Amino acid sequence: LGGNALDEKAAGKIYAAKGRPSDNPLIVHIAEFDKLAPIVAEIPEKAKILAEKYWPGPLTMILPKADIVPRETTGGLDSVAVRFPSDRIAQELILAAGGYVAAPSANTSGRPSPTTAGHVAEDLGDAIDMIIDGGLVGIGVESTIIDVTEDTPTILRPGHITKNMIAKVIGTVQMDAGLSGLDQSVKPKAPGMKYRHYAPKASMTVIQGKKEAVIRRIEELAAEYPKEKVGILAADETLSCYTHGQVVSAGSRNEHTIEQGLYRALREFDHMGVSVIFSESFADDDRSEAIMNRLLKAAGQKIEYLSDK
Ligand code: AMP
Ligand code: MG
Repeated sequence: LGGNALDEKAAGKIYAAKGRPSDNPLIVHIAEFDKLAPIVAEIPEKAKILAEKYWPGPLTMILPKADIVPRETTGGLDSVAVRFPSDRIAQELILAAGGYVAAPSANTSGRPSPTTAGHVAEDLGDAIDMIIDGGLVGIGVESTIIDVTEDTPTILRPGHITKNMIAKVIGTVQMDAGLSGLDQSVKPKAPGMKYRHYAPKASMTVIQGKKEAVIRRIEELAAEYPKEKVGILAADETLSCYTHGQVVSAGSRNEHTIEQGLYRALREFDHMGVSVIFSESFADDDRSEAIMNRLLKAAGQKIEYLSDK
């Protein structure tokens, strides 16, 4: 959902359309590496290395901002979040718009992020002037956010580009302590990560353990509700293992499409009107960092661990 990142009035319109709190900063999108220097106070060496390796791509870097970036865009902060997306349509739009597009995900604040144009229409159809339909999203979960303003860079939001992939090119990197959500007194450093987010309307619990045990436990829990009121979030490989409830697949564990399908699956439960959801865990996926972060946020951190016995 884009607007001119250098125009303070545009930011206000974006916040209004999304119903987003205005202390939650926007990401500034560029489509040429040379557009970075004018909007930041400096480009640390590690940021250059990361940009060379992962831009264009789903990596957002937090840098000290230059004066031309209005505080309305950065939620009042002295830093700015910058990303260079790889999508061709996004790139052309950014260039046509003058090079700097402030753009959050095009959903109503608090709802699962959109992964199709249909999801955008569902949430924002009446609030915005136009939707460009570029087809199904490539990755699905939001970009990795990394703060490179300090010596040891910190991941503020896990994403498709994992901690290991980052550590490989710049060495030591840490996860923001506020990310786990377990200790409520430690606030996440990315203002947006503190909100209940990515959430379906129904209450959700994640079940983690050995595959067969998880299926058995979910069957047992689901049996306590009328079939039409209970949702089960599974994968392509386990979809047919359940006998009771509205079963939705997030994607295939074997083909690593869970990241792409998670939000679509959560929205499907909203359409079905289920009141409770039990979800398989996806902690074993090689992209589990981002998937489990979003899944547990959607579940309000409710998870049941099954013992091996
Ligand atoms: P979205 O636009 O929905 O992908 O969300 C943008 C995310 O980036 C939110 O979680 C923001 O809090 C985070 N963010 C944007 N700018 C900054 C910044 N300067 N410092 C820390 N986090 C930021
Ligand atoms: Mg968002």
